[in-house]
Amino acid sequence: MDDAIRHGIEARKDWSAYYTVAQGFDTTYHNRPDCVDGSRIEDEDLRAGTDDRPLCDKCRNSQRAAT
Ligand SMILES: [Zn+2]
Repeated sequence: MDDAIRHGIEARKDWSAYYTVAQGFDTTYHNRPDCVDGSRIEDEDLRAGTDDRPLCDKCRNSQRAAT
């Protein structure tokens, strides 16, 4: 794991929600720092917030399993 990836993971932990601005890659937002899809977002495309998008299925399933 290089520094850029580690930085991205740290940012995700600080945010309650995040999404990518990369076109056509991911139209949902994420709220788990360990989401498989969320972890694939490049640091330069990563933004905090939900952007009024639906929650990603993997994040939603993880929430349901945790409760
Ligand atoms: Zn997700």
